[in-house]
Formats: sequence, C-alpha cells, structure tokens
Amino acid sequence: MHWPVEAATEVLPLPEVNQRRLAQDLRMLAHIGASPGGGINRLAFTAEEREAHSYVAARMREAGLTVRGDAIGNTFGCRPGGREGLPAIVLGSHLDSIYEGGQFDGTVGVVGALEAVRALNEQNIATLHPIIAVAFAAEEGARFGASNLGSRALVGDLPQEELRRLHDGNGTSVAVAIQQLGFPLKEIPTCRWDSRQVGAFVELHIEQSAGLETLRKPVGIVDAIGAATRLRINLIGRPDHSGATSMSLRRDALAAAAEIVLNVERIARETAGRNTVATVGKLNVKPGVITVVPGEVEMDIDIRDIDADMKDIATSAMEAMVHEVARRRGIQERIELLTHQLPSTLAMWTREAIRGVCQEMGVDYRVLPSGAGHDARVMADLAPAAMILVRNKSGISHSPAEWVEMSDIVLGVQVLTNTVLKLDDALAQRRGEGKHP
Ligand SMILES: [Zn+2]
Repeated sequence: MHWPVEAATEVLPLPEVNQRRLAQDLRMLAHIGASPGGGINRLAFTAEEREAHSYVAARMREAGLTVRGDAIGNTFGCRPGGREGLPAIVLGSHLDSIYEGGQFDGTVGVVGALEAVRALNEQNIATLHPIIAVAFAAEEGARFGASNLGSRALVGDLPQEELRRLHDGNGTSVAVAIQQLGFPLKEIPTCRWDSRQVGAFVELHIEQSAGLETLRKPVGIVDAIGAATRLRINLIGRPDHSGATSMSLRRDALAAAAEIVLNVERIARETAGRNTVATVGKLNVKPGVITVVPGEVEMDIDIRDIDADMKDIATSAMEAMVHEVARRRGIQERIELLTHQLPSTLAMWTREAIRGVCQEMGVDYRVLPSGAGHDARVMADLAPAAMILVRNKSGISHSPAEWVEMSDIVLGVQVLTNTVLKLDDALAQRRGEGKHP
C-alpha cells in the first residue's frame, strides 16, 4: 500500500511516550507474583493474575478510560473516538505468566497500550475511532495446557466442554478455577465480540528469541504467527521391584517415555519443516520411587510451526511413533489432543501501517515471523491484526533471565502509539473517506 506524501509531512502535535511512567508500571507489575528467585508467577486464573489486572485497571481509570471487565477476566479501558458507531482500534497483550516467568512477556504490551493512550491524552490528540486498551486473561498455556483462553472467549472460540475438561496439575479444571475467582462461568459466551466492533488489533510484545538482537534491530514487524498442537501422552507399564524384576520382564513406562522424547526431537529436526519445533516440557513419573520400575508416565508434547501443513505432518509422525514405541515395549498408550491451533498470517495493510511509522521515525526494523504464539493470532480471526516486536537483549524468554532494554521498550511503545494514528487514518481511507482532518 502506498501512503500519501501528506502523511509524512503533515504537522501534528506528536504523542510522546513517557519513559518514567512506563518504567514505574513495569516495576510495579514485576512485584506482583515475584518469587525470591526473581521469577514471575502470575499463572492463569490465580489471585496474582487478578492483582495485576487490578493494578492496570486502576491506571486505566487514572488515564480517564472507561474500564470494564468480562466473564473470563479480560480487562478493557476504552477511550471514545470522535464519531459514534465506528469500530475500535484495540491494543494490548496479557498479564499472566508461566511458572517462574520473565517480567516483560505480555506485560510490555499491556503497559505499552496504556501508555499509548496516555501519550495521546497529554497532547489532546483525538482519534476518529475509539481506542480500547486490553489486558487479556490466561494467555499462557503453562497451567492448563491450553493458551489464549481470554482472547479465545472474545472471538467465541472457548467451548464450555473444554473449560471442564482441561485441568491443572492439582486436578483443578479451568471451569472451577474461574468460578473460584468469582467469575460467572455460564456468562462466558457473553464475552464474544462482534467483528464489526473492531477495526484493527495491535499487540506489542517482546521478541521471545534472539532474532532481532542478532540482527541488531530494535523493532520487528510480524508477518505470521506460529501456533501449537499439544498432545498429552499417558503410558501405562507395570510398576515392579527394581531388584527382583529381570530386565527382560520389565514394562518400564519411563524407558518408553525416554525413547519418545528423543524421537520427538528427531522428528521435529528431520521429518517436518524448517520452522517446526517440538518440545516435551512436562513429564510426570509414577510412582517416582528409586526402588520401583516406573509404572506410569504422563507427558505433554508441544509442536509448533507457522505452516499448518508441516505441523500436521510432524504431529501425525509423532503419534505413529508413540504407538510404535508402546507396542514394541508392551506399554499401553493413550494420546489426548489438548489443543490444536492454526497459524495466522497477519493483514498486509496493518503491517504496512507499522512499516510506514518505522520509516517516518527512522527506526530500523525487520519483518519476521513469530514462532511463539500470541493473542494477536487469535484476534486475527476477529479483525485485521498486527504485531510489533521489541528486541530481547537476553534472547531468552519464559525465564527470569528474560531482559529487554528500557530504551527499546520506549521505542516500541512510540511505534505502537504512532501506529494508532496511522491506523486511524487507514481505517477511514479504507471506508473511502479519505484522510480525516
Ligand atoms: Zn506473551
């Protein structure tokens, strides 16, 4: 898409991101759910996650936004637009974390959305379209094995059956966890938005690998977002005396699991596509006693790709492999599909809006795919979506070692803020209204 020259030369008051305010919000949120080891523990549907939402809701109110929540625990702050009835520009990310996660994952996008609105307010910059800053609930799959529960409720893709079926390590289902926090389970269908309510969605997020750091570029524009297929494998062997049972008579569930783990790695490397990754990140062994041959293993496999076909090929190969290993070792196996998401290609015109902003600001950027899943992938079902990535100095994520420089965060939030104005114009132009005054 070609941007009119006026877009670059027009003199407007510029919204300016406030670094001190941003840093203060990030610092405050880094205390919520912090463990002595420095990790963040704000798991989906916990008191710590809710505390972070309360903090953000309070900052939204201070910024003059109309705040509301929904039945799954998403928090929204709305700034009205200049004209009634127009779709909103929605900005945001998530506030939950994995076990011992980092302080920037998700949080930067929520605080960034808030700061974008504050920067517009300070310069009295009105937009034609309303702006909604959002903090999604339960993006991470760490607790229940399924991701993006908050944004999935918004697009109407969260069946009650799944909420009752998925459970955490203590046997608590999503449905019970939601109700324990006082959210009305049966009202979750009311979380659904009409696609006509949203003109565009933008998520600012830290990069979760070292791509931008290696390229020495501070900002990334995402063209495609990978998605996960997750399998839960139950292996039932026979628990037996570790001294009295000869090697030939054993049905060792853990030895079978070990073979499966290595084969998962091999298939991801050899059988599937260039971007396929697969991980066994969780393995429970029973009875877990040094003197007993392991009788039972539960293990979860996470398979991801930005190419849906390649992900399916890898998944089928892994299922066949599990059956083969189990049969050969005399182990009973059960394979449960925990989650199956589709990768998403993001809208070209929203990507071009961010590219235009980067060029105007003189920001060095790279267009790249995101192997990590995000709420933007889900929101792309509802509206044209876009993602701005911020360089991750550490190259590490889902770890307390995750680190992003404040100067890069400020730059990312500034790109986000200017993108809002660009999208405000682009949405009007797409309706054939031309550039608004
Ligand atoms: Zn995230």
